[in-house]
Amino acid sequence: MSERDYYEVLGVSRDADAKQLKKAYRKLAMQYHPDRNPGDDEAEQKFKEASAAYEVLSNPEKRSLYDRFGHEGLRGASAGPGGPGFHSVDDIFSQFGDIFGDMFGFGGGGGRRQRGGPRRGADMRYDLELTFEEAAFGTTKTLEIPRHVDCETCEGSGAKPGTSPTTCSTCHGRGQVHHRQGFFTLSSTCPHCKGAGEQIDDPCEECNGAGKTRVDREVEVTIPAGVNTGTRLRLRNEGENGSPGAPRGDLYVFLHVAESEIFERDGADLHFKKELSFVQAALGCEVEIPTLEEPRTLTVKPGTQYGDRKIFKNEGVAKLQGSGRGDLIVHFDVTIPTKLSKKQRELLEAFAEDAGIEVASPGFFKKMKEKLSS
Ligand SMILES: [Zn+2]
Ligand SMILES: [Zn+2]
Repeated sequence: MSERDYYEVLGVSRDADAKQLKKAYRKLAMQYHPDRNPGDDEAEQKFKEASAAYEVLSNPEKRSLYDRFGHEGLRGASAGPGGPGFHSVDDIFSQFGDIFGDMFGFGGGGGRRQRGGPRRGADMRYDLELTFEEAAFGTTKTLEIPRHVDCETCEGSGAKPGTSPTTCSTCHGRGQVHHRQGFFTLSSTCPHCKGAGEQIDDPCEECNGAGKTRVDREVEVTIPAGVNTGTRLRLRNEGENGSPGAPRGDLYVFLHVAESEIFERDGADLHFKKELSFVQAALGCEVEIPTLEEPRTLTVKPGTQYGDRKIFKNEGVAKLQGSGRGDLIVHFDVTIPTKLSKKQRELLEAFAEDAGIEVASPGFFKKMKEKLSS
């Protein structure tokens, strides 16, 4: 590839400042981004060329060498690893990772870029509380999802409009600082600019220099009937923004369903405990049973036992997988009175006598008490 003039490559004048350079590079990088031009070698070359030009011109030292000596001036030791020009798109990503993060996405948002691939936006989690009924019948909810976008006031630069980020005074634009320790020179990310190579002297008031602002956006989510605590809904492309041409992350909605005061839910089945007086259980009766819809009348057969069940098919909660509904299962509990009136006692004694059941005679407990205390 013949080497074109770097200013010409970026389409900027020779006195372009950092902001103009970044803007020009951003435009080209977006246009020729490999993710937008898959398999297009020419676009990839242009992407590399623009990246090489930006790599040199955004670095004051290299730019000064280039201005004085042209491409020849960069062949010396001052050029970065491998000299100007990049061997692969991966090199560009690794060298400009921070800048790309700065420019295209929310830096370090967790969206993991595949090797040389698009940087997908970060996934997001939203915890949503539902009532028992909302989960049983399904519902539609509008969620407020925060997303980070380029600040409109400063166009994402973080600098107050009319000003530009300047070269970092600590690292002189390298993004790295060097420490000498004995024989060794150690380098680390510049603590002042955090590797960006630029500093913002006059931060944008809108975003406090972050270059990003938070925008709450409404996302409507349809909750299908039959969800439960632990159900996770995935909304594709509703997470954070990715790099240009790359998809957004996904939004995961974690559901938390309140318990019912009436039913006990087990998957799609509902359980309901109905207390019967022992007389009702013995003689049979009609009782009212709540359901998810209208209450219904249930005929209790004479001789119903504790633990007997009555199953209402398809009166439970909708099945999330498959079709139909679960069942509503009524469990009978038989209660025994703890206190009897004189008349009730007499009636029961008569019942016992008739049935030939031996029971304690009247005054039995009184006598026993006297015996024990004597
Ligand atoms: Zn701003
Ligand atoms: Zn710095």
